[in-house]
Amino acid sequence: MEIVYKTIENDLEYLKQVSEEVDLSNDEYMRDLKILSDYGSSDDRLLALASIQIGIPKRMIYVRKTDLSKLEDKEIDEHKVMINPVIVKACGLTRYWETCASCLDNMGLIERPYKIEIEYFNESRKKCCEVFEGFPATVIAHEMDHLDGILHIDKAIELLVMEEDDRKEFRKTHPYEIINKDQEFNMNK
Ligand SMILES: [Zn+2]
Repeated sequence: MEIVYKTIENDLEYLKQVSEEVDLSNDEYMRDLKILSDYGSSDDRLLALASIQIGIPKRMIYVRKTDLSKLEDKEIDEHKVMINPVIVKACGLTRYWETCASCLDNMGLIERPYKIEIEYFNESRKKCCEVFEGFPATVIAHEMDHLDGILHIDKAIELLVMEEDDRKEFRKTHPYEIINKDQEFNMNK
């Protein structure tokens, strides 16, 4: 199956749909999951990917790279799959100039929680509960938004259009920023 990457240029309405819950009561989800995992491990530019970005509007996320100090390392693949993830707790506040494989060169300054607790099912349908702190929380919260049809450009405090090399330079002076680690974070704002 040929994967066509969904982008705001060609598929804005598609990307704005709310993804469906994955039905874990039969094995059909395994096929979608394999497509997502294969794609996630094949694209070394990715930090993470929601399945809707490759044309599968189901609540699944592939997490590849969340170590802020190693974003340039193309070999890293955490290979974490999250099915039907739900944020059950969020606190703290961070800011980061995010990009998105679906949003081309649009870079947005986004506020996200410092810490999130997520319930999800793993590849073997086992229910998991995990806490992510710091940059991994930003990466995963970005993907969680895709499941609800929300793009980072929809919630950016500031937006810039910049090519990849310029973004790398820009981030040297505008790095990931922790505002606080423990205050309440309102996920609905
Ligand atoms: Zn994205």
